This record gives sequence, C-alpha cells and structure tokens, in this order.
Amino acid sequence: MQTKFLFLLLLPVLGLSQNAARIHKKAIVVDTHNDILTASIEKKVSMDDNLKGKTHSDLQRWKEGGLDVQLFSVWCDGDKPEPYQFANREMDILDAIIQKNPTKIALTRNTYEMKQAVKAGKLAAMFGVEGGHMIENSLEKLDQLFARGTRYMTLTWNNSTSWATSAWDETSKKDSLAKTHKGLTDFGKQVVKRMNELGMVVDLSHVGEQTFWDAIATTTKPVIASHSNAWSLCPVPRNLKDDQILAIGKNGGVISLNFFSGFVDSNYRKKDARFQLAHKAEIDSLKATGMQTEYAVTMVTEKYAEEAMDARPTLEQLLEHLDYIVKLIGTEHVGLGSDFDGISSAPRGLDDVTCYPTITRALLQRGYTPKQVTNILGGNILRVLKANEKGTELSKN
Ligand SMILES: [Zn+2]
Repeated sequence: MQTKFLFLLLLPVLGLSQNAARIHKKAIVVDTHNDILTASIEKKVSMDDNLKGKTHSDLQRWKEGGLDVQLFSVWCDGDKPEPYQFANREMDILDAIIQKNPTKIALTRNTYEMKQAVKAGKLAAMFGVEGGHMIENSLEKLDQLFARGTRYMTLTWNNSTSWATSAWDETSKKDSLAKTHKGLTDFGKQVVKRMNELGMVVDLSHVGEQTFWDAIATTTKPVIASHSNAWSLCPVPRNLKDDQILAIGKNGGVISLNFFSGFVDSNYRKKDARFQLAHKAEIDSLKATGMQTEYAVTMVTEKYAEEAMDARPTLEQLLEHLDYIVKLIGTEHVGLGSDFDGISSAPRGLDDVTCYPTITRALLQRGYTPKQVTNILGGNILRVLKANEKGTELSKN
C-alpha cells in the first residue's frame, strides 16, 4: 500500500522527467559561449579525451548533455602581444580536433550546415571571437576570421580597443575615457557594418553602455549578448540593465544566460574574495608559471571544490534571471551561454556540460511550455543566426 502510494505521488514527477527528456532530445540545443579552446591551451588538455574532473567540457560529455551546437569562444586577454595570431592558434586547435573526430564534430558555416551536422548526430561547431582586440584594428583580419568560421564577435572583452569601450573601462576609468573616446568610433561603426555585410552576429556581452547604444543604432541585423545576465538581479557592470534588455528585444536579438556564479548572485563576490585570499599563494604560484589569472583561480577552485561549494548559488537563482528577462521581452529573446571552461564557479547542479537536461526539466517545472523551452534551448539563437545570414553568401543553401 505504502509503495503504491509513493508511486502515485511520484507519477507527475516521472511524467515530467520523461516529457523533459523527449523535448530535450528533439530540440536543437545550442550553447553560445564555451571557452574550452583557451582551457585546452592553459591546462594542456585535448577535448577528445575524457577530461572529467579537469574541465567542464569534452566531446563525450557534450553528447551526454544532449548539446547539438557549440559556439566556441576564441579569446585572449588584452595583454597578449599578438592577439590575431593567438586567435588563429585557438582555431587551429578546433580544426585539428574536427579532423581527428569527423564522425563526432563538424565545423559549420551556416544554419543549413548546422542542421545537417545535427541530423548526422554530430556536434555542430562555430567560432565566436571574444574581444574586438583580436582583429588588431583591421577589417581584413575581421574578414579572415570570418572565412575561418567566426559567426559572432564580442565587440570588446573587459579591455577596450581604440574603437570600442568595454563595460569594465566605462565604469572603472570614467575620467580618463572621457578625454579619449567612449562608445564606438567611426571605425567601430565600420566594424559593425562589415559584420552585418558578412553575416557575423554582433555580440554585445562585455561592452560598455555607450558602445552598446552606438552598436544598437548602427546594426541593421539582430544582435546577441552571448553570455550576460540581468543587472537588476546582480548589479555587475557587464550584466544588462533593463533599458538594454528592452533594446535587444526590440532589435529581435537574444540574451544567452551566463552561468558564472558571480554574474548570477551578487553575494558571490565577497565569498569568492575570501576564498581567493585563503589560497593566494597557490593561485600566485600558478600565475608564475605563465597561466592567465582566470585559469589559475579556476584550477584552485576545482582543487578545493567542497570548500568552494558554499559560495555557489542555486539553479533557481540562475533561472530567476531568465524569468526576469522574459517578463521584459518574452521567451523569444533568451538562450543559454554557459561560459563553461571560462568560469571558476557555476550554480549548484550545473557542474559541467552534462547538465543541460537539468535546465530543460527546471524550465518545464517553472511552467514554460514545450514550444517555449525548445526556443530557449536553441530555436531563438537559430533565428538570429539565420537573420544575420540574410542577404549574404551564407544564405545561398
Ligand atoms: Zn566573457
């Protein structure tokens, strides 16, 4: 009797799980931001190996998580002497992986090829360049990166360029910037126009507010924020304020949720600062080996995972950002941009790229319809990619 009662109680939960699994399998699941290429260099690993415990991502775990499309971030910080060359080195890494694993992953140039790859059971890959500094002030280099498969570019990372100011600089170097420039210069506007012509999506994560508004006024196509959250819920400079969220909705674009604990929960920063102080010597010794700060912190956070667990927000807190954005602009304008392998901490339960089905289940539990969930998982971003292809060589399929 008791067992039967328990079964009846669990029935709706079991039904939801099955339904969620079906919806997840059928949907084209897209993540717009993953830093495994940089992690591959920093941690000296290869994503076609089993990297469980070492990274958030590898080919096998993407499969387990039911991910269909990955936009691979091509990134270095603003201090690298030859960022364009470094961008090409990162792209070489993915090209080599694809050559070695042609049945598992394919580089795709447009949404048509993307769907073909997904149908064939492969992970469809595209590049997203993170940081306008990587084009080294050259439209030719922008064209070259496009030719190699870059389908979005974040106009800035935390560092500004001579043609676009970042969220970090616009908020922390206010006075000195006012003397030089703020927002997009004429060349910055040319970059946006060239991206529109090519069919490369303008990504507004990381950019300063002035750059944001200048880019929105310049672009003729829908934009994305490939990995950003709502400033009202977590006021860090690179999250989006309400008027920015509204503008992306009006532009027809998409905001992809960033899983980094520090962009989800404003309490995280203090807790993390305490953690980093306690392990400063270890972080510094990794940095002394030439490792970039972000990855030194990540390595140490992973080493002391139990201790770092306390600071992690819940999945529900992440999805509150989604609900918030949806309330402002609707379910057609949100997606997922985990930032996996570029972040030192994610909400509890989102330990690596096998977690996407957990999100699908949680969205259904929150009352989103199967159609809305399918759009959030990938339909929305496919729409933006397609709109950017319109009128370019990319649409001739
Ligand atoms: Zn980023």
